[in-house]
Amino acid sequence: MKRAVEISPDTPLSDLFAIRPDQKKALSRLRIVTARDLLLYLPARYEMRGRESAISGLSKGDTATIYGRVASVKTSRGFRTRIPMGEAQIEDGSGSIKAVWFHQPYIAKTLHPGSAVKVSGTIQERKGELYLANPRIEPLADIPDSSSSLFGTIDQPEAMLPIYPETQGVSSLWLRHHIETLIKKGIHEQIADPIPEEILKRYHLPSLSTALVWVHAPQKEPDATAARKRFAFEEIFVIQLARMRDRALYNSRQAFSAPITPEALATFTKRFPFPLTRAQSRVIDEALTDIATERPMARLIEGDVGSGKTAVAAIATYAAISCAPPDNRFARLQVAYMAPTEILARQHFESFLEYFHGTGIGIGLITGSGCVKFPSKVDPSGTTPISRTQFLRFLKDGELSIVIGTHALIEKTVAFRHLALAIVDEQHRFGTMQRAKLLRKGERVPHLLSMTATPIPRTLALTIYGDLDLSVIDELPPGRLPVATRIILPSERKGVYETVRGELAAGRQAYVICPRIDEPDPTKALALNATSVTEEAKRLKKDVFPHYEIGILHGKLLPKEKEAVMEKFSRGDIHILVATSVVEVGVNVPNATMMVIEGAERFGLAQLHQLRGRIARSTHQAHCFLFTDTKSASSLTRLKAIVGAKNGFELAEKDLMIRGAGELSGMRQSGISDIGMEAIRNLKLVEAARAEARAIIANDPELSGVPHLKARVDHTNKTGHFE
Ligand code: ADP
Ligand code: MG
Repeated sequence: MKRAVEISPDTPLSDLFAIRPDQKKALSRLRIVTARDLLLYLPARYEMRGRESAISGLSKGDTATIYGRVASVKTSRGFRTRIPMGEAQIEDGSGSIKAVWFHQPYIAKTLHPGSAVKVSGTIQERKGELYLANPRIEPLADIPDSSSSLFGTIDQPEAMLPIYPETQGVSSLWLRHHIETLIKKGIHEQIADPIPEEILKRYHLPSLSTALVWVHAPQKEPDATAARKRFAFEEIFVIQLARMRDRALYNSRQAFSAPITPEALATFTKRFPFPLTRAQSRVIDEALTDIATERPMARLIEGDVGSGKTAVAAIATYAAISCAPPDNRFARLQVAYMAPTEILARQHFESFLEYFHGTGIGIGLITGSGCVKFPSKVDPSGTTPISRTQFLRFLKDGELSIVIGTHALIEKTVAFRHLALAIVDEQHRFGTMQRAKLLRKGERVPHLLSMTATPIPRTLALTIYGDLDLSVIDELPPGRLPVATRIILPSERKGVYETVRGELAAGRQAYVICPRIDEPDPTKALALNATSVTEEAKRLKKDVFPHYEIGILHGKLLPKEKEAVMEKFSRGDIHILVATSVVEVGVNVPNATMMVIEGAERFGLAQLHQLRGRIARSTHQAHCFLFTDTKSASSLTRLKAIVGAKNGFELAEKDLMIRGAGELSGMRQSGISDIGMEAIRNLKLVEAARAEARAIIANDPELSGVPHLKARVDHTNKTGHFE
């Protein structure tokens, strides 16, 4: 402790401990400012404190934990592979061994010759030399002796050692030591428990102060488990409360009612060149029932790629714009349709021009690259680019009834006259705050229709979409052939390229998807991914498909560049599109009927399903080839599950069970911590949290009777969960 101060959970750590500037930075990255923040920073896992090994006694294949000192450090690149690597030579009294970190040179950069470390990993051998491959390494204040500690000692092999998510500058050891100090001072007992006592009792959850001791310094495994369960419950419970409180607030506002007669609906539906599927009709019914009243709708439509969500959006739009606001029967209600990318916004704009052709309705498109209006003054059947100022004026005075756009739609300057319906496409790409901004436009709140193709498990949907009513389009339009999906081993590669060549010759197009590259730093992963896309495109052009036009698409391209590539691919000027998995989920190119997925074992099942959905858009037979060189039987079994599967939501459940929540696509934005994600695997826990949250909100929507809980919920919103 730095000096004698009245310590409370709110005391800044810098008043308590001597903290170096780099540590301060690291802590603020972890959002740790006060004693409370530090106490609530939970371990990622535990290590059973195993017996240490002497380096001299090691042999290939051993799993070893070594306590020693760093003799030397260097970073380099693999001789042939050019893989960036970090290396350190570790010594204990008995000998010396090399530790190597492939792809993670920064680990070596955190080490200094002479410093004490604990290293654990598997012993490998190369050219007769033993080394540790990608071991876990932890700096130690010193080589530990048998001095006693709250957290167990080397002499107590059964002790559980908490391991924290680290960041450069703040090690697990540092965290453990300082948390221990706070707990010894009893600071953890001063933090008010946000969870009401009867709820703790009902689910046999430990109180906050007990759980803090159990999570940071468990004496036995069941204690750690009980503590983690409590924190998982708390997180899910608090998120649900936040969502339900928002919803209650939203429900207390008024929306425009937009009833539509069955006759008008039938007439408009005839404009589609296809009959609606049963699932589409059902979901449309649900949405139209909501829109017909002044209670604001908040509905999420889940439907696989290609299930026809745009048609549902168009019908809801039609219902809204067919109605007038109550105070002016000559005006029309307005609709805003927000898409995550410019390409998608443009595609929706074009679909809507078709669906609303001849109705005389004003339709606008607003994106980062400009504004377009239909109809044009000079050509009533055409569109015209207009200035932003003009566009905003048309929107404000109601001349534009439908406006489609990207994020540009939620900028402050965009104002509507009678916004009745806000549609958000691929809604997982937008945070709750962005949705909230769209909803804030106007005196009345608009009805909200969110749409997503991202398959997520039910438990997760119940949590992060706790404020939304759910409609599911669980059926694809008829006549779609299921994508013929095959697992391709390296020996069969050539044959597949032959097949692809045949289809290309018949005029079809293909996607080649390059895998994510596992790298701890997500920004780097994107760069590496971009590299692999570029390299693969070069290789295909040179060695495999020299006579075809090959394009590339990845997250590092500018929106303009992406658009140009997609445009060319849509027109058929590019035959093969080499891309990462992160780009443009909803793009529609019906002539692309083939997809090659490299390193398929690296993807989640739901994500593979979603990717292949891109080629399930035409009446031609589509082929998806899952390239893999994995020898792992479990990987192959997992891949086989997708061959027959038809529904992305089932696959999401499977992913959750087999690989854990971290593997679910689209989950990074959800803002749920690792511990909260553990809860997502537990339907009972999620349902319990939901029932409790619902009961509280029903009686006390503002949470005024539970101030500690209210503070916790407010904090969740403020710290930008879901952003
Ligand atoms: P998504 O749900 O992925 O947004 P879209 O709305 O883009 O799907 O629809 C995919 C394709 O299916 C479009 O070409 C659309 O015209 C077509 N489609 C939509 N509904 C039907 C239907 N009921 N019958 C036949 N084709 C349909
Ligand atoms: Mg879509």
